[in-house]
Amino acid sequence: MNKREKTPQHFADIPANERREWIQGFDLPAFRANQIATHYFTHYNEDPATWSDFPGSARELVATKVLPKLITLVRSIACDGGMTRKDLWRLHDGVLVESVLMKYTDRATVCISSQAGCGMNCPFCATGQAGLTRNLSAAEITAQVVAAARACANGDLPGGATRLSNVVFMGMGEPLANYNPVLQSIRNITSPQPDGLGIGARSVTLSTVGLVTGIEKLIDEGVPVTLAVSLHTPDDELRDTLVPINTRWKVKEVLAAADKYSDKTGRRYSIEYALIKDVNDQAWRADLLGRLLKNRNAHVNLIPLNPTPGSKWTASRKEDERAFVKTLEDYGVPVTVRDTRGREIEGACGQLAALEISKANS
Ligand code: SAH
Repeated sequence: MNKREKTPQHFADIPANERREWIQGFDLPAFRANQIATHYFTHYNEDPATWSDFPGSARELVATKVLPKLITLVRSIACDGGMTRKDLWRLHDGVLVESVLMKYTDRATVCISSQAGCGMNCPFCATGQAGLTRNLSAAEITAQVVAAARACANGDLPGGATRLSNVVFMGMGEPLANYNPVLQSIRNITSPQPDGLGIGARSVTLSTVGLVTGIEKLIDEGVPVTLAVSLHTPDDELRDTLVPINTRWKVKEVLAAADKYSDKTGRRYSIEYALIKDVNDQAWRADLLGRLLKNRNAHVNLIPLNPTPGSKWTASRKEDERAFVKTLEDYGVPVTVRDTRGREIEGACGQLAALEISKANS
């Protein structure tokens, strides 16, 4: 299909309060909007052919115009005894994105993509290397969550049926660089049924490189999702290279925006920090980070670097990681080391899609 062709509009692109009017544009009665919402967001059923409460004549129309199929599964890969599953999706124009579903004893989390590729160009991230292909629509983002909710409800992962409890915007893309579709997808995820999936805003984490204007805008939207800031180093000199948007918004400005977010929403935010051996894991950087964060409502999530193919960087030595944790703890800064779920299926950073694209081009 033509790459420039626009993504078809979908029910999930439309704000809940406009859906009745929108479907009337297809000569469907307004009350059908609630039924469609219930099928999609409560039962994760997007196949009108199976809807017994819908007249046969309307089913085809809904299937093509209201709920067009936006994502098609190319392949799933599982690891961790089936408790982690990575799905590779093809979009209507052939573009590939991925999501990762992780089941734990007490929760199930899906990590979703907000863009195909990414324009932020962080040198340690596989997604960043290929640049931005395009933004995803709200419905393309939402569809990844609906698919995960369905997989949980169907008991597709070991241990029986469960409820999808958490959503993290930590797949491909910079969510705040695709602001409006991401916000609409958050509304779809957090709105109570039938208008949305009914997942609490605090169970949704938006991870950003630190686009200050986006963080500030998000404060006023009334969707208090958990904010995660990819800091990766406390000093501007190194951050200018690790997270190049730092040349636009400095560490101080990013933290000030996160503080404001936290003040207004009452939510503690996360600082993400990928520990890279001999690059950002020195004692003095741990100390500087501790001093920066000790009086802030922040929690540090250390991520052992997942090396990308051909990268000269690797994860920190375990003893350096331990020392880093200890320094932060001494400052009273809450810190955890992220588990490395999905490593053997390149679940952390866009590598499967990248691999698939390079195969397609070779
Ligand atoms: N663009 C957003 C969200 C996507 S990535 C952001 O940057 O926050 C989610 C997290 O994974 C970010 O903190 C990102 O820096 C981190 N990450 C990317 N590549 C990584 C790698 N190779 N190893 C460890 N963490 C990585």
